[in-house]
Amino acid sequence: MKATGKITAGQNQLRWVVLLLAIAVILPTVCLLWFMSHAVRNERLAVKQKLTDVYQQRLDRLSQRLDNLWSDRINSIGDKVAGHGAIEIFGLFASRDDDVRGLKLCDAAIVYDSNDKLLYPVTEGKEDAGQLPDEFNKAWRAEFIEEDFARATGLYEQIADTSAEDYVRNSALMGKVRCLRKSGDIEKAVSQCNDLAYGQSQEVVNSSSASLMANARVLLVELKAQTEDGLGRSDVQKLIDSAINYTPGNDSVFLPMPSETRIFLLRKALEIVEKSQWAEQFGPEVLRAKELLSTEELAVEFLNKYGSVEVAESWSEDNALKMISSLRVLLKTIEGVEWNYSDFAEQLRRQISIVLDSYQTKQAAALAATSKQSALATLLESWPEDSFRRLDIPEEVFGVHRTMGGRIYILLRTTEALRSDFSLCSDGLEELGVSCRIMDGSGICVSGLEAPGEAAFLHAPLGKFFPGWRAEIHFSDVDIFERTANRQRMIYIWAGLLAIAVMVAAGLLTAKAIGKQIKINKLKNDFIATVSHELKTPLASMRVLVDTLLEGSYRDQQQVTEYLELVSKENERLTGLIDNFLTFSRMERNKQAFAMARTSPAAIARDAGEAVKTKFSKGKCRFEVNIPDDLPDVTADRDAMVTVLVNLLDNAYKYSYDNKRIELSVFSEDGSVCFSVSDNGAGISRRSTKRIFNRFYQVDRSLARRAEGCGLGLSIAKFIVDAHKGTISVESKPDQGSTFTVKLPAGN
Ligand code: ADP
Repeated sequence: MKATGKITAGQNQLRWVVLLLAIAVILPTVCLLWFMSHAVRNERLAVKQKLTDVYQQRLDRLSQRLDNLWSDRINSIGDKVAGHGAIEIFGLFASRDDDVRGLKLCDAAIVYDSNDKLLYPVTEGKEDAGQLPDEFNKAWRAEFIEEDFARATGLYEQIADTSAEDYVRNSALMGKVRCLRKSGDIEKAVSQCNDLAYGQSQEVVNSSSASLMANARVLLVELKAQTEDGLGRSDVQKLIDSAINYTPGNDSVFLPMPSETRIFLLRKALEIVEKSQWAEQFGPEVLRAKELLSTEELAVEFLNKYGSVEVAESWSEDNALKMISSLRVLLKTIEGVEWNYSDFAEQLRRQISIVLDSYQTKQAAALAATSKQSALATLLESWPEDSFRRLDIPEEVFGVHRTMGGRIYILLRTTEALRSDFSLCSDGLEELGVSCRIMDGSGICVSGLEAPGEAAFLHAPLGKFFPGWRAEIHFSDVDIFERTANRQRMIYIWAGLLAIAVMVAAGLLTAKAIGKQIKINKLKNDFIATVSHELKTPLASMRVLVDTLLEGSYRDQQQVTEYLELVSKENERLTGLIDNFLTFSRMERNKQAFAMARTSPAAIARDAGEAVKTKFSKGKCRFEVNIPDDLPDVTADRDAMVTVLVNLLDNAYKYSYDNKRIELSVFSEDGSVCFSVSDNGAGISRRSTKRIFNRFYQVDRSLARRAEGCGLGLSIAKFIVDAHKGTISVESKPDQGSTFTVKLPAGN
């Protein structure tokens, strides 16, 4: 009953501990899982919010930077235009070095004065280039029909000397150069051409003269190449310098050219430089010339679309009418003449009518253009200052305009240049795995993805210079949320699982430690109970015997001797028990020390046999000891090994019936020395053989009680054998006897 009570108490204790541990582990785990699932669910939202914040800041910064960039540019344009002429300004705008970031301020510029009159680019047609005096007819006849170049040279020279008008004089000089060249006088042609090209005051020339002079400059290079000295580097240098020079001054290479002439000169200069042997040395000039060429071409394109004012002016009604009436007079005159060649007359008539028709059409167009509001005026009406808009010209171009000092400056910027402005200001947005798409006021994509797969994640206005424009953020990788959220989720899940694993491990360790403690407590309780119980029986019987003797209630001396022998036996049993308890206690406290030494197994077996001989000689017991001669030594604590064998022999004696047959054998096997103790006793069931080496385990408590055991003998034996790195085993069948075998390694 007592034992049951103890077990119940222990089990209760264990149940409480398990319950507490479960609460300590399971409750936090459940809470953790709850938090985790919430965090995981909200992660997508959190990621989106985080990204929105980051990219919103980036977009704000983009628009801020664009504002700064264009404020700086427009201010620097303001600084530039002050005190400069239109040509110069045009040159300055196209200059790459003038922007701190190494970008051009604009790709082309158009300058109007306060009356909407175009200042730059200069268009041709204001001067009447066709009005050359009649003297030219003679010179042309000599040059082209008679091919009398010497006479033609003289005639041209004459015109040049007598004419006060620049254009007339320059045309004559050009004719003279041509004739000198044709007559083979290259040296003279060169010097004459040089005079025409560079030898006169540059700044006052009219457009037509400028064209002639530009032609002369190109011709000069061609002529130089034919001289004996050949073409020099300085000649090429002069030509390209003159093409790229936009600054009026004392410089002889400066020429105020109409745009068409400038474009001609730039193209020719580039062609000549690139063909020359010094092409590589003119790197910077070539670069500049190319830039200027595209700038001029772009400006002309703009004017073709929006500059109709100029066309209307040059085709004023008066001029057109004058020309038409003189052509009509001419036609009448031709019709009145008697022609020998009727075919020719017919052809001439037809040509004149064609020219007449064409003039009439142009006149109508010019009238229409002047009657309507100019395209520029219309454009400017709906175009606020300082705001970029797309222009309707063949090249994809955007423009912005500002009025400074009474002049209107229209700055053109190609889409490509705008894109580089945007990427300059977007500050590595693309590197963040997103693409930044920029749409102009009319919703057309200017930069970034043409057709994005998904709607914009975020969009923002693009600053004050781009009203109505917007910057959009698109994820190049559509799954970015999911993946970022998943990554974060995995971090949560792993962290949670780790925390749970740590908690469970800690719980298990604690449970194990507590279990061990409970087991030790139980062991202690069992030990105390067993000890007291085992000690009580011999003490009680000794007391009865001694009391009987003291009272003198004995029959004779023999009975006294018998009683004393019984007392002595009980005493011996008590000593045996206490020895076992002490050994066990030492064992438990790990205080058992073994004196290992090289020992003969025969000696151990003999000592054990001696120890039990007296006991075994009583009653019907056949005890045999088999010790062969050639046994190898073992390393062992002799006394301890004797204790092991004595315990086994004692058990064999205790758990055998009458006619006991006990055998102690020693033999060597596979490098080991084996001690075997066999009996013909009660035997042990297969199930019990697994547990008999446990402390306090007894197969049959009543039998064991009768046999005076306390369940420690075999556990002590196992402890000692283990300390010798040996093994102990049992083979047994109920009612047929048991054989215990102790195996120790032989030698050292
Ligand atoms: P005890 O002090 O009870 O003998 P032991 O540890 O020596 O304790 O033995 C444990 C149990 O093993 C015994 O109670 C007994 O039931 C069983 N046992 C040991 N040796 C034998 C044997 N030779 N024959 C039968 N049973 C045995």
